[in-house]
Amino acid sequence: MEEIKLYAILECPSCHSRYKREMPKKSKDLSSHCVFCGEVYSVNHEEDCCIYCKHSNTKCPEKMKLNERINENT
Ligand SMILES: [Zn+2]
Ligand SMILES: [Zn+2]
Repeated sequence: MEEIKLYAILECPSCHSRYKREMPKKSKDLSSHCVFCGEVYSVNHEEDCCIYCKHSNTKCPEKMKLNERINENT
């Protein structure tokens, strides 16, 4: 069985460097560690879904699925 890996390009809010990180399919990442400046930044789960939805170029797998479902219904 082939596993599809999902990657996001995260942008550090502190130094604005971009780096790639693999997204977990089942859990949500609420914080990330910038590989360039060492900043650990996080999101407030009550306001934002996860670190990928807020600080990356893509949405997390869960949000992507929700969007697909919305598109199917319209
Ligand atoms: Zn940084
Ligand atoms: Zn998310």
